[in-house]
Amino acid sequence: MPRNQAEAIVLRASKFKDQDKSVVFFTREHGLVEGIAKGALKSKKRFGSSLEPMSYVEVFYYEKEGNRYVTVGDCDLIEDFYEVQTNPPVLFTLAYFAELIEESRPASGEDDLLFRLLLQILLALKAGGEPEFLAAYFETWYLKINGYLPDLSSCKGCRQDIVATGWLSHQKDGAVCESCANYRKEEIIPEFLDFLRWVKKNPPSKTAEPSFSADQIQSIRGVLREIIIFHLEHSPKTLGKFLDK
Ligand SMILES: [Zn+2]
Repeated sequence: MPRNQAEAIVLRASKFKDQDKSVVFFTREHGLVEGIAKGALKSKKRFGSSLEPMSYVEVFYYEKEGNRYVTVGDCDLIEDFYEVQTNPPVLFTLAYFAELIEESRPASGEDDLLFRLLLQILLALKAGGEPEFLAAYFETWYLKINGYLPDLSSCKGCRQDIVATGWLSHQKDGAVCESCANYRKEEIIPEFLDFLRWVKKNPPSKTAEPSFSADQIQSIRGVLREIIIFHLEHSPKTLGKFLDK
């Protein structure tokens, strides 16, 4: 059996049979890889904390044709993100990111934008970045990378630039202005476009710099989540927990 090697972030891990763990890895090189780590529950030393969710690792594994699961040989921890997950809202948010990544099924050979996005967000959280702002940052790029982020700068009805408040319109795949809107649910506040411009130009590590209020970020996230749910065609399982916090 050929041995593969990949840089990866652990999306989730669960008990498999009595002594093993099944682990979903998001690899930089091969997209999602689901593996069985034999003996991971029997001996804690065997894999250490390298199989904990969001661990950034180098994984070595064996693939057998026709098998859904690969066999995890070794898994070396590069960086752990245990500390940031002791904060429950951050823990739920990261589980939500993991679900979104699994849903979009990044395939082998695709560019590694989504991988770099998740890693940058984890590093920014660990460095003390603001979780809600970083969540909005992640959601924006997640939509952009998947080709789901519509142009929200001009009205899909009258084609004019939206200068004040706009409204999200799935039917028109974009935004409509106040006078063209016949359905007003998700409000696009004027700061939304400033936020998108900032996020496109800056790495998430600079979160201390922009001056968006907590209310503005909440409003922006509301719109981003609506677009995500619309494209997934269902509400992410992890989102409920997050909203209940
Ligand atoms: Zn209009």
